[in-house]
Amino acid sequence: MIRRRQAVFALLVLSGVTAVAAASRGGQAVQTDDCGYAGVAIVNYEQAELDATCRALSDIISYFRQIGFALKPRVSVRFADRPLGRSTGATSAYGFFDAPGAQIVVYRSSDVRPWGLPWSPQLAMSFLHHELVHMAVWRIVGDGPVRLRPEWHEFIAYAIQLDLLSPQLRDQVLTTHAEALPSENFLDINEFTSRMDPECFAVMAYKTYLANGRESFVARLLGGEFVPPPFSYPFAVLPGQLPVQ
Ligand SMILES: [Zn+2]
Repeated sequence: MIRRRQAVFALLVLSGVTAVAAASRGGQAVQTDDCGYAGVAIVNYEQAELDATCRALSDIISYFRQIGFALKPRVSVRFADRPLGRSTGATSAYGFFDAPGAQIVVYRSSDVRPWGLPWSPQLAMSFLHHELVHMAVWRIVGDGPVRLRPEWHEFIAYAIQLDLLSPQLRDQVLTTHAEALPSENFLDINEFTSRMDPECFAVMAYKTYLANGRESFVARLLGGEFVPPPFSYPFAVLPGQLPVQ
């Protein structure tokens, strides 16, 4: 009986060890950190990626605080290898923000060259800024009365992304699309320009942002004091064919 009990005990210990081992293996896969914010979960990161995300988050929170929006971040940020063969536009090469899921996926994209420039920690940080701005705008606009079309979400994300670059790197980015001019009537900010050439759109967005008061322009857009003109399509569209507003 005693021997049998010992055997059972040994089995229990063994299965316990196996369970702990499995949990720690699983634990690595679900390693999370919150950068000090209750609504934030950084998932599947390396230490440098975590540090960069926390710094980027703090940059974005202070940007919006300066223009009068106290941001309570709610987002998960997951680092992932870029799916092979994915080439649907420049933005998707670096990651994306999924608004309903409040999730950012950041691709480890060392083999891409945004604006033709070599990948660098600074550029990686700038795309973290970009996706976190998307999160911030969704949090601020929420279910409130201000409705911004998708291209205006992109406008704000790119403008702040470029604004937060070092002056030297920003000049390099701007030089790649010297032909892009600030939009004078805002109709150049539309779903075609934003999707067909996002890198050129980014430069045009930044120049338009500068020409209209920088941070104060973002504040007016988010506060509903500036309402972008409605875009009229150069062809007939049915209501169901319009992009989500
Ligand atoms: Zn974007």
